[in-house]
Amino acid sequence: MKIRCPRCKGAAELFSDFTAVKCDGCDLDMSYGEYVRYVAHSDSTYSDILGDYTGSTSGQAAGTLDEWDAQDQS
Ligand SMILES: [Zn+2]
Repeated sequence: MKIRCPRCKGAAELFSDFTAVKCDGCDLDMSYGEYVRYVAHSDSTYSDILGDYTGSTSGQAAGTLDEWDAQDQS
């Protein structure tokens, strides 16, 4: 299907099996996973959402790991 190219804002092609994204306008050629990360980094709206999500989960993970360390040492 056609999607907006994150690099040149032209029409890129997303393969129907989600394996690759290609754009004739700027020779963009990357996997769908790379495309998602590319868009997340280049689009400030997505970056804000990902930043909030990462910040909240990393805080919880740190607290959990500290508790596990304390239990191992006792
Ligand atoms: Zn392009």
